Amino acid sequence: DLLLKIDDLKVSVGDRNILKGLNLEINSGETHLIMGPNGAGKSTLGNVLMGHPEYKIDGGNIYFQGEDINKLSVNERAKKGLFLSFQYPEEIHGVTVESFLRTSKSAVTGKNISILKFQKELKEKMDLLEIPEEYKDRYLNVGFSGGEKKKNEILQMAILNPKLAILDETDSGLDVDAIKTIYEGINTLKDGKKSFLVITHYNKILDYLEPDYVHILVDGKIVETGKADLADKIEELGYENFKM
Ligand code: ADP
Ligand code: MG
Ligand code: MG
Repeated sequence: DLLLKIDDLKVSVGDRNILKGLNLEINSGETHLIMGPNGAGKSTLGNVLMGHPEYKIDGGNIYFQGEDINKLSVNERAKKGLFLSFQYPEEIHGVTVESFLRTSKSAVTGKNISILKFQKELKEKMDLLEIPEEYKDRYLNVGFSGGEKKKNEILQMAILNPKLAILDETDSGLDVDAIKTIYEGINTLKDGKKSFLVITHYNKILDYLEPDYVHILVDGKIVETGKADLADKIEELGYENFKM
């Protein structure tokens, strides 16, 4: 089933054109990897899919489950099953991982979940992801390592159970422990229905993740699409050779 269809998408921030006619289709259950040089527009793609208000759509369309979502708010998109991982940079004293996750679940579902029911679900997901039990009682980000911050992202994804999870791994994600956490988490959460759009610079990614498709994004457009071996070709040739 076609889940996401992006058709000739043009996006600007201020007076800068960033996405310049981007096309992409993702079916249910597929994992897509987007690679590209710094400044190509990868994070812009993630942000505009989620409805970040700073990014202006100048042309083209985004369809999610056949519906044009261009005018929907971030929250409306989350309710429809879109998820963009976001690493909360601040340390939040007094807010535990558990209460943070319960709040975000209520926000996305629009329902209050009983504490007991939530705790049961959280335990299931933490067991599945092999996250030690004491993790949920820690204050958000306080003293967290790179890998522990990623555990929160992956756990949030597990709890919100999106149809399409977009994971934008920034350059700072070169901490191998953090990378392993996120990709092993994705592999665990793959269920044949959920789709993943993983954005990365990291070309050793294939050691951890098996994508169905790899796309190369250069200067606001997808210039090449292939299978997993395309990532090896990039390592060999560099992005320069994919410019159009
Ligand atoms: P990537 O994630 O591929 O490194 P980005 O999508 O972050 O690229 O950025 C693409 C280009 O758009 C960059 O030149 C960046 O400076 C610019 N850009 C992105 N977001 C903003 C913003 N909020 N304000 C101004 N410029 C932005
Ligand atoms: Mg960048
Ligand atoms: Mg980026």
